[in-house]
Amino acid sequence: MRKVRSFFGPSVRGQYVIEQQIQFADQKQEFNKRPTKIGRRSLSRSISQSSTDSYSSELMGMSNQNNGKQMVEIVWKKMKLFIETAASYTDSSDDETSPRDKQQKNSKGSSDFCIKNIKQADFGRREIEIAEQEMPALMALRKRAQGEKPLAGAKIVGCTHITAQTAVLMETLAALGAQCRWAACNIYSTQNEVAAALAENGYPVFAWKGESEDDFWWCIDRCVNVEGWQPNMILDDGGDLTHWIYKKYPNMFKKIKGIVEESVTGVHRLYQLSKAGKLCVPAMNVNDSVTKQKFDNLYCCRESILDGLKRTTDVMFGGKQVVVCGYGEVGKGCCAALKAMGSIVYVTEIDPICALQACMDGFRLVKLNEVIRQVDIVITCTGNKNVVTREHLDRMKNGCIVCNMGHSNTEIDVASLRTPELTWERVRSQVDHVIWPDGKRIVLLAEGRLLNLSCSTVPTFVLSITATTQALAMIELYNAPEGRYKQDVYLLPKKMDEYVASLHLPTFDAHLTELSDEQAKYLGLNKNGPFKPNYYRY
Ligand code: NAD
Repeated sequence: MRKVRSFFGPSVRGQYVIEQQIQFADQKQEFNKRPTKIGRRSLSRSISQSSTDSYSSELMGMSNQNNGKQMVEIVWKKMKLFIETAASYTDSSDDETSPRDKQQKNSKGSSDFCIKNIKQADFGRREIEIAEQEMPALMALRKRAQGEKPLAGAKIVGCTHITAQTAVLMETLAALGAQCRWAACNIYSTQNEVAAALAENGYPVFAWKGESEDDFWWCIDRCVNVEGWQPNMILDDGGDLTHWIYKKYPNMFKKIKGIVEESVTGVHRLYQLSKAGKLCVPAMNVNDSVTKQKFDNLYCCRESILDGLKRTTDVMFGGKQVVVCGYGEVGKGCCAALKAMGSIVYVTEIDPICALQACMDGFRLVKLNEVIRQVDIVITCTGNKNVVTREHLDRMKNGCIVCNMGHSNTEIDVASLRTPELTWERVRSQVDHVIWPDGKRIVLLAEGRLLNLSCSTVPTFVLSITATTQALAMIELYNAPEGRYKQDVYLLPKKMDEYVASLHLPTFDAHLTELSDEQAKYLGLNKNGPFKPNYYRY
């Protein structure tokens, strides 16, 4: 029996929800198994602290019993456990064997995954638990899903960055009733220990940090090409998964109900498909949801650009000359952070509106050629290709740091640097010196792939907003009655955007003002929203 109910609760019971009630299957599935916490940077602290905590409490008990031999045994057992646990974590980072050549099983005997090292699962679980604390809206969705499973029967194949935040999203989708298979959308951004925790919990995950191009497509294929399981929903970030299914398994689209796409690049590809009449299922453009654009792109990059640069190069920002290519949301975030640190920031733009915004925000608008000889740092965030060409790279000064914050590695022409006269020297993980015959060197970060997700972490709270938007887009597309969405690209209804925001407000103890009846009438609004027309730009 199917029941018809609203999943969005009283705060969104406006006109929209009444019109678009969601059908839930009452079939219950149990996919979500929780567990534990602590971040990689506090690893040593967490190991020693947790060991010491239980160790000292046991010792206390022992000393009461005054049993010296037992005490020694306990100390030895604890020490051994500590060393083994720490070793399994460290060894795996140094292990050069390709995960494709390893036979691994989780504790339940499943081998339907391919990751770096299943022994890292406990550490990954701690990372996921930390992320859960900063993802209140997803946790709220899980609570609401305790009785209702709006994604029951959904078989989601996903291709996103595999991080602790994605893990919280995946486990939320599972709590809402979905089955998930996942690959990484970036060869560098996978948190190996998080992938291990997911695999240990039964999720078929195919990803590790430092995949080759071939591994990348192999992992995507392993997600899709599996006997006895066919996806009926796609959650993509960058469009590679969608592209793969179009290319290799077009018949799969007969069963697929919709695509949720997160990135500028992927959305662009979807619009191209739609324009060419080749999009065969409805797609939800999450990237252009207000709650994604204005928060993930802007605030996430504002908070993580400095972290990525600092961790890779230890550069000091004050007084450094930086050129930021593209003054969209990502560019705005990067510029704001660098300006606040005392950098001298130049901006390049092709769009006069964004260019004018840059000017009004106090940045010098230049062509890249005009400043390329003098800048200390070049950052691309256009979503475009060949923004930094070999000619630019040739003209940069010695020591110039070059990196990309856009989704794909197309913005800097890295391929043009792979010529015999240039020497590549690995300095640190994700940091290369590229050396010219005259000794000039540039510092290339993450081989031109997006810096923050490759070389630093990103603020979980902001990602929570995007992840909640993705989850709601999934629910909406999966449950939409026949005919509501055609073979086209759609934006998430504004009401849901507002709902995503409202779920995050309690974290700040924020008190939202309610419209009075008189005010609502005056503005011609429903008291429960939506509060802005679709064309409002925030
Ligand atoms: P956006 O469309 O708002 O901004 C891109 C800007 O670049 C636009 O204003 C455009 O006019 C400008 N541009 C295009 N070509 C240019 C060129 N040749 N020279 C100078 N400017 C040019 O997009 P956005 O939201 O800022 O996202 C930019 C990229 O960053 C995308 O690839 C997106 O997927 C990615 N992204 C990265 C992160 C991250 O965490 N690193 C987060 C969100 C988005």
